[in-house]
Amino acid sequence: MPNSNNPSVLVIYTGGTIGMIKDTITGALRPFDWDHLYRQMPVLENLRCKIDSYSFDPLIDSSDMNPSFWVRLADVIEQNYESYDGFVVLHGTDTMAYTASMLSFMLENLNKPVVFTGSQLPMGVIRTDGRENFIASIEIATAYEEGTPLVPEVCICFENKLFRANRTIKFNAENFDAFLSGNYPPLAEVGIHIKYNRSHILKPNFRKLRIHRGIDTNVAVLRLFPGISPGTVCGILNIEGLKGVVLETYGSGNAPTDQWFLDAIGKAIERGIHVYNVTQCKSGSVEIGLYQTSVSLGRIGVTGGYDITTESALAKLMFLLGMGLDNKQINALLGQSLRGELTVTKEN
Ligand code: ASP
Repeated sequence: MPNSNNPSVLVIYTGGTIGMIKDTITGALRPFDWDHLYRQMPVLENLRCKIDSYSFDPLIDSSDMNPSFWVRLADVIEQNYESYDGFVVLHGTDTMAYTASMLSFMLENLNKPVVFTGSQLPMGVIRTDGRENFIASIEIATAYEEGTPLVPEVCICFENKLFRANRTIKFNAENFDAFLSGNYPPLAEVGIHIKYNRSHILKPNFRKLRIHRGIDTNVAVLRLFPGISPGTVCGILNIEGLKGVVLETYGSGNAPTDQWFLDAIGKAIERGIHVYNVTQCKSGSVEIGLYQTSVSLGRIGVTGGYDITTESALAKLMFLLGMGLDNKQINALLGQSLRGELTVTKEN
């Protein structure tokens, strides 16, 4: 139960544009320390909450993100879980959707807010979007009602919107509204008031937090395009040690009907490789069997990912493969929603 007069939040600083400064020699942006970032935000002193920080060393541009960093991040949350009402993770925007999706799977029974945010302009720049993103994230991470958090899930707060993490993609490298959740409504909208979309937010289950550290990176993305060659498809499917492929198909899960293509995918599945069908579209769902061009995919054992994002599909594959389950169990779980990452419609 949080102290409603003085809730507490742990800000976990991983790097990213929000805290970057220009390198005097190269002129390029690079991560800079927490004290510098904190000094840009004197208003934090006035918030009615206790703000502590944990800063990674070294801080990174999120293009350098990797699975061992994800494990360290999950560990920091676990070690501090009982001491804080919520967590704000400052993270570069480039791979935020990947990290936040992965954390949503790694943190089973999460009953507190973990809010990822960052910015398109560094905090030291006058027009920065970081200040608003940061303050809104802290408010959301400490928002409780009768001892229960309003958003007990991993989410991304950016440009006045709160999204479910594993539904989000970075779609704009220029505008402040950098993130899109094409298949799920915002969990909250930040205006004069923060309006929570309660019916779309996961409910707490009050079970003990459980961290999953096993991450299997023997995965790949195979994005279809007209003219894709057997060499490219087979090159990917025959990568040594490969266990799972996110197959980015067209529209509602469609793919070429060429026999060489279906044979290559079918043989990979026979070898035990999981093929997870995800649409290239930013919105909409895979529906195997809607068109003739997806019927065979279903027949040879491709698993439909419904409306999951590529980022979330990759994270889910790495997570499930890392759990030591058998192939049947993994296939079954790929077709289900584990953390609200997909909407099951018709049987795929
Ligand atoms: N390259 C930066 C990063 O992802 C971009 C950003 O933070 O917006 O760390």
